[in-house]
Parts: sequence; structure tokens; C-alpha cells
Amino acid sequence: MKKIIALLMALMMLGAVVALAEETPSWMPTWDRDADVVVVGFGPAGAMAARAAYENGVSTLIVEKANKEFAGGSAPTSMGFIKPYSVEEIFDSAQGRLTKEEAQRLYDTENEQLDWMVANGLKITNSTSEGYGRGFYDVVVKAIEGMGIEVLYETPAVQLIADPITSEVYGVKCQQADGSDLYVRANKGVVLATGGYAANKDLMTRFHFADMIDYALAGASTQTGDGLLMAAKIGAGLDGVSNQQIEWYGYSYKTATDEMGTAILHMGPSLGPDSRIFVNTKGERFMDEEMYIVHSKCEMPFLAYDGTFPVYNGYFNLPMYVIFDQAMLDAGPVGPRDYWCGFASMYNVYNWSEDNQAEVERGWIVKADTIDELVEKLAAQSGNAPIDAENLKKTIAAYNEGCANGTDAFGRSEFYLDPIGDGPYYAAQILPTIVYTIGGLQGGPNGETLDWEGNPIPRLYHAGDVGQPTKILIQALQGALATGRIAGEACSQLESH
Ligand SMILES: Cc1cc2nc3c(=O)[nH]c(=O)nc-3n(C[C@H](O)[C@H](O)[C@H](O)COP(=O)(O)OP(=O)(O)OC[C@H]3O[C@@H](n4cnc5c(N)ncnc54)[C@H](O)[C@@H]3O)c2cc1C
Repeated sequence: MKKIIALLMALMMLGAVVALAEETPSWMPTWDRDADVVVVGFGPAGAMAARAAYENGVSTLIVEKANKEFAGGSAPTSMGFIKPYSVEEIFDSAQGRLTKEEAQRLYDTENEQLDWMVANGLKITNSTSEGYGRGFYDVVVKAIEGMGIEVLYETPAVQLIADPITSEVYGVKCQQADGSDLYVRANKGVVLATGGYAANKDLMTRFHFADMIDYALAGASTQTGDGLLMAAKIGAGLDGVSNQQIEWYGYSYKTATDEMGTAILHMGPSLGPDSRIFVNTKGERFMDEEMYIVHSKCEMPFLAYDGTFPVYNGYFNLPMYVIFDQAMLDAGPVGPRDYWCGFASMYNVYNWSEDNQAEVERGWIVKADTIDELVEKLAAQSGNAPIDAENLKKTIAAYNEGCANGTDAFGRSEFYLDPIGDGPYYAAQILPTIVYTIGGLQGGPNGETLDWEGNPIPRLYHAGDVGQPTKILIQALQGALATGRIAGEACSQLESH
């Protein structure tokens, strides 16, 4: 009898071991933490996803790449401009990606989230958040902290843990500040809310530029497309990664930007003469310098490209330079002073001097009495081939003649046609500057992340700039709030696995 019992027990133990082996596939890690809804990224999209989970009574955990001071990605660097759009505008701008009902739901959800933000202390005056993007994001942080939702700062997600056959997502692998791994199981699912990829020069080049170009980024350096890359690794499809889903911002001083590690904008004076032109290495103008490119998604003259064999010379207007005169320098700061947008201003990285002298002394702007000297100094500063000085003289003369006649070869408005005076001259290499990207992961109406065939990847959702599921082209903060809410809502309704 004893032998039979021992045999039965041995068989039971063997069965348990076999069952355990079946239940724990080799790719499944030992989990360190778990939550029903795991949110990756603590911007406005991630915050609203976590809030939805919390309000649905399921557990949630946010993992955030940056430390507390620099968390929030684009949001705290933004201007906090809020402009609610109509249902029709949302529908139209989605370019067939939304039904009328989905546009209505997005509109309603945006308004609910904004009302909630206002109830939590957000003040909006003239469509602008009090405290700009920092003020907007502070409200998000305080409200989420007030709910007791846990945020693990300095814990970037580096990999989605998914079934290699079905792609069903089980959790995320994160890296902790001390370099160790943290495996977080998601009982219901994962919401990726990591923001855009504008800081990832490799992705920007692959998606948007025929050749690598030097550009500056107005937002945060955390925007490296991590969510997009993690999801792509398990089969997510992409959508809207065309030139029409990156937004331009303006131009930045290259030397200053390189030195400060973030975009230091070039600005024309708000008052006073606009005696400046942009030129390429040939010393030729190529655009209306006053063309408003902030938030523009259009083709840009500085990206004009020649790929004709055997002429091929790529982006023939890059590198580009600004040339201006003493009158413009004297008229006021030609960089951001007491400004309210962009990483450099919102994090007090640099405040431009009132009279531009500090920047001339730092060598961010080159000064010279003659065009020949200017061209020489500019080449020494930039390390580029010198601008053709004779052509530049002709270009300035032609531009000045146009100013006298009230006409311009590039259609610049007469209001801005101020002639460039005799020396001293000022100049700098300037970089095209990007605000953010909004395309990325392909999404369904509930924030489901879709594969290339349009099938949802089980238990994977995303929201915000990692790929606004609806590709709304005309709104960002509200879109992030609303898509975060929708994705968090859908994810928290799932049965746990
Ligand atoms: C200069 C500037 C001005 C703007 N002005 C406006 C404006 O006035 N109005 C407007 O509507 N929109 C504006 N925008 C756009 C707006 O800020 C964004 O669309 C919005 O913040 C997107 O929200 P999000 O939550 O998707 O991403 P983000 O706000 O970028 O947040 C993403 C978060 O994910 C984190 N993260 C990234 N990778 C990981 C990882 N691997 N693991 C964990 N966490 C990660 C980041 O650190 C960050 O905290 C502006 C943007 C910029 C850059």
C-alpha cells in the first residue's frame, strides 16, 4: 500500500512539474512586479491611460524613462496652447481614418479630459495654459499623484515581453537607474505612451530625409521613438511617418545648439527692421525668410533636393546661413529671451541677452566689417566650405534693390522688406528645427496597436505622439489626453491572462 501511495505522489509531482513547465515558457521571465495595466511613459497620454485604469478599479503602474525633473517629454516643453476643434474638423483632419462616430467620441473625450484638467487646477486664458507647457504638465502630475498612482521614474521600458508565436503581450522589461533589469507583468495589457521620435536622428533620416541632415529639436531629448521601436519588434505596423506628420518650428543657431545640447532658436526681431536673408553655400537666397513655418507640415524650401544624375548634390540649400546687419542686431534679441516654449526656455537652459552682445562674444554669431571677412569667419566657425563671397554680394545687392522697389524674388511681403545695410555684418549657420512627430504606430479606434495586416496585437495599446491612432493632424495635447483615456479604458476592460 505504502509503495502505491509513494508511486501516486511521485506521479503527481511529475505532473505538477510538467504542468509548470508547460505554463512557464522559456521566453517568460521571472516577474519582479505586476499591475493590471502597465503604462509606459508619463506624458499626458500615459497619465490619462493610467487614470482610466484607476477609475475602472484595476491596478496600474507607470514606468517613466526620465527622472522626475525631466519627465513629461514634449508636454512641459510645449506652449500649452489648447484649441478645441469641432467634430467636423477632427473628422476631416483624420483623412479617412475615423468614422463620424469615432470623431464624435474623440471630441467628447477631449472635452471630458480638459474639463477634468480644469477641475484639477488648469487655467486656460486666450487658449493658453497658465505656466505654458510646464503649467499644463504640473497639473497632470499633481492629479495623478493625488490618486496615488505609482510612477517609477528613471525606469525606461526597453522591451515588450510577448509570446513569440502570437505576439500576445505579457509585460515589459525595464532598466533601473542602477543598471539592473525590472520585469513588470501586465495582467491585462500594456499602453505605450512614449511620445514621438524627433530626437532619434536615425529614425528621422529613415522616414523623412533622403540623406542625413543636421537639424535641431525644440522639445525633449527623451523623444527617441522607444515605444515605436519596441512595438515594431513584435510586428506592429507603422502609419503616418511621412513628411506631413513632422512639424517644423523654425531655425536654430548651430554653434549655440551644439554647445547647449538643445535648440537655441534664431528669431527675427518682433519690432524693428527685418534686414536679414537666408543663403546657401552658393551665396544664393532660396526662400521667403518670413514664411511662417511654425507647426507647418509642408514641403520646405531648405529641403529642396537634386538627385539628378550626374548632377546629384542632395540638399543643395543645406547648410544654410542667416546674414543680417547692424540695424537688426540693434533692434532687439535675435534669440529666445524670456521665452515660453521649447526645452531651452522651459528648463532655463539659456536666456538670450537683451542686446545680443553675449552671443556675439561667445562666437554663436559671427561679426565682420566686410562680406569677404564674414564669409571667411563663417567658414572657420562652421567648418563648412566657405560661401561664395562674390555671389553673396550680388544676392545682397539684388535683395536691397527689391526692397527699394517693394518687390521680392521669393514673394516676401513688402512689410518685411528691409534692406541690409553696409557693414558690420552678422551671420551664423542655422539649422532647420523640428517641434515633434505625431505619426508612428498604426492604431485602431480604441488605441489597439495593429500589425501590418491591420490585426490588433493582443494586449498592446498606444496613445499620444507614439502614433496618435487617429492621426489627427491639427491637435496634440488634447489628442494625447483623449487617446490616452480611450486606450486606458479599453485595456482595463480586458480579462486578465
Ligand atoms: C516645443 C513644443 C511645443 C509644443 N506646443 C504645443 C502646444 O502649444 N499645444 C499642443 O497641443 N501641443 C504642443 N506640442 C505637442 C505636445 O506637447 C505633444 O503632442 C504631447 O505632449 C504628446 O503627449 P504624449 O504623452 O504622447 O508624449 P510626451 O508628452 O512626449 O510624453 C512622453 C513620455 O514618455 C516618456 N518615455 C519615452 N520613452 C520611454 C521609455 N522607453 N520608457 C518609459 N518612458 C518613456 C518620456 O520621458 C515622456 O515622459 C508641443 C511640442 C513641443 C516639443
